[in-house]
Amino acid sequence: SIVVTGATGELGRLVVERLLATVPARSVAAVVRDKEKAAALAARGVEIRIADYDRPETLAGAFRSGDRVLLISGSEVGKRVAQHTAVIDAAKAAGVAQLAYTGVLGGPDADFLLAAEHKATEQLILDSGVPYTFLRNGWYTENYTANLGPVLEHGAVVANAGDGRVASATRADYADAAATVLTGEGHLGAAYELSGDVAWSLAEYAAMVAAATGREITYTEVPAAVHQEILVGAGVPAPFAEILVDVDEAIGRGLLAGTSGDLARLIGRPTTPASVTVSAAVAAA
Ligand code: NDP
Repeated sequence: SIVVTGATGELGRLVVERLLATVPARSVAAVVRDKEKAAALAARGVEIRIADYDRPETLAGAFRSGDRVLLISGSEVGKRVAQHTAVIDAAKAAGVAQLAYTGVLGGPDADFLLAAEHKATEQLILDSGVPYTFLRNGWYTENYTANLGPVLEHGAVVANAGDGRVASATRADYADAAATVLTGEGHLGAAYELSGDVAWSLAEYAAMVAAATGREITYTEVPAAVHQEILVGAGVPAPFAEILVDVDEAIGRGLLAGTSGDLARLIGRPTTPASVTVSAAVAAA
């Protein structure tokens, strides 16, 4: 089977949709922790396998010999190395044919806080000897468009990213790439640097929001410490604010700007322009 973990999450749902457009539902399995959340998938003929990254014993039945597996990285920062270790161990024990993993753009060269668990996971996969494909995802455009509220309220994009650029793509773009490596051949041992075709600056992002809304929106660059205070003041828990500020610094250093073209090549089309995602988000707001 083609097996997708995190199949009830935002990225996982899109991967399963793409798979169902390509292969019969009976050859697709979803690893989920919440059966209810997967009811719609089950109704469409997708096999549901219940497992929780936090409870390694539940992963014993998640994979079968010969499965092609997508491990979608967990969403709880700080717990992910232990969680991914459990998944990799289970995949190895089952004898899967492929383990694809959603890591971070830059792979071993990504030296910022959020990247640490992805780098550790890639190393664990290499050490396991399981046939792998690394999907090193750049930033989702939706990371920005899901947070339009404060931008519209203050007429400003506030960040500590300097003139750094972000080669973002949509979740759907990354999902198409994942489905491609799970259904095609020639991807074992490959590490793809997945990102949007165009890297934009935050000043350009502000201009995209301005164009979509008809309002004046500026990029307000602030020092890291000030950004941290603003985020905490807006209710973001301090440890998460630290991570966001660190991401901006990484953007300032150009770490999320890479435009290798791997994503467009894998999906056989240009990536979705950020302006398109921005316009859709503004229209929906
Ligand atoms: P979501 O939070 O929507 O999805 C995470 C998925 O992981 C969910 O299906 C969730 O299950 C599942 N999951 C979390 N913890 C466990 C667990 N203990 N056991 C089993 N399943 C678990 O995130 P996205 O789909 O948007 O993104 C996928 C991943 O990409 C994130 O988890 C994160 O690692 C990373 N990410 C990347 C970003 C980028 O810009 N490149 C931005 C944000 C995240 P359930 O459906 O039950 O909640």
